[in-house]
Amino acid sequence: MKNSVVIIGAGHAGGMTAISLRRKKYQGPIKLIGEENFLPYQRPALSKRFLSGEIEEKRLYLKSKDYFNKNNINIINNTKVTAIDRNNKTIHLNNQEKIGYKKLVIATGSIVNQIKTSGRETNLYYLRTIGDSLKLREILSNKNKIVIIGAGYIGLEIASVAIKKNLKVIVLEQENRVMERVVSSEVSDFFQKKHQSEGVVFKFNSSINDIEDHGKQKRIICNDGSVLNTGSVIIGIGIKPNIKLAQNSGLACDNGITVNEIGQTSDRHIFAVGDCSNHPNNIFKSRLRLESVQNAVEQAQSVAETIASKQTPYHAIPWFWSDQYNIKLQIAGISKDHDHRVIRGHPEEERFAVFYQKEKRLIAIDTINSPREFAIGKKLIEMQSEIPFELISNTNFDLKKLVS
Ligand code: FAD
Repeated sequence: MKNSVVIIGAGHAGGMTAISLRRKKYQGPIKLIGEENFLPYQRPALSKRFLSGEIEEKRLYLKSKDYFNKNNINIINNTKVTAIDRNNKTIHLNNQEKIGYKKLVIATGSIVNQIKTSGRETNLYYLRTIGDSLKLREILSNKNKIVIIGAGYIGLEIASVAIKKNLKVIVLEQENRVMERVVSSEVSDFFQKKHQSEGVVFKFNSSINDIEDHGKQKRIICNDGSVLNTGSVIIGIGIKPNIKLAQNSGLACDNGITVNEIGQTSDRHIFAVGDCSNHPNNIFKSRLRLESVQNAVEQAQSVAETIASKQTPYHAIPWFWSDQYNIKLQIAGISKDHDHRVIRGHPEEERFAVFYQKEKRLIAIDTINSPREFAIGKKLIEMQSEIPFELISNTNFDLKKLVS
């Protein structure tokens, strides 16, 4: 059908694009094509409450099968899009079918970074899908020791679930602190201590030379020559945007599929949303490629509105969260270029926030068990006004006064 909106990738951003198109009263046909055999679902719980077994699979779905049927959204699961023929405005599927489109939305997400090893891939685990999380559940209930490679938020969330199941947990990290890519040293120190107090053992400055295969055992050979023996290795060393389809069809890509402020690629009939897209952000005056639910949802909403009714630019404050033990970390903004940072609250009380400034303006916050500071901080970032450091660190001063 040549008049369809076709969405490649039935994940969070793809699913939200379809849902938002109907909310914005788009009347035409919508086809949502996904390689996985699930309805569009949310991934965050895969390393948190779904992994621990506290919530069931149906809680992950964005909407029920019934919703998609009623709203006439045609989901084609278990099917991979193999090529985009831009000249004929047609996509090719792995079952040899072809589907025409009026507008195409690419929402192909990310691919996990893998470690090349001389051994077989057995007993090496990555986490991206429901299937991966179910496999990890099994590991956590059958084993008494795991080694996790990577102290990013995924590795740490898995560690916190594993410790609660009484496993011995060793985390290897090539940097000298946890979550080095996303938080300041104060927040890293806090999380490191928290994990250590729960029993996690860290080995920092430790990259992997090889993982050898010895039957049911793996031998992890580190750069300093040390060797760790373990039955299962869980790897969380980041992701890369899944852009092969876009590249093969000649769309402009640079750390993601390059889109303009309305989510349009270098082909005006094709949009890209979610982890795979790289968009301009006028609040941070730079291009961003984000790996978060906030981005998947809000970019999808803006592209859906552009397709359904009027051009809707997407310029949002990025935000993110992570749950580890009883700690909720919430991050807003981009702290990378800060020239000053102020701590409000007390890490020893497991409740504090780090405010990052650039030329006196607040550009980011990391909050620990402090939802109020998170909400206010996010507004302050949006306002881009200058804020004196002393007011932030003074816990007797109500920050709300700065936003009202
Ligand atoms: P995805 O949700 O990955 O969807 C992409 C889909 O496209 C996949 O289903 C894939 O199979 C499909 N696909 C790819 N290529 C093709 C093709 N050629 N044909 C058909 N289908 C294709 N974010 C937060 O903000 N907070 C969190 O706490 C958090 N925790 C996370 C925990 C885990 C374990 C993971 C994996 C992610 C987490 N995230 C979190 C990130 C968040 O889930 C992602 O940013 C979000 O899923 C991105 O949505 P997306 O649609 O771009 O990609």
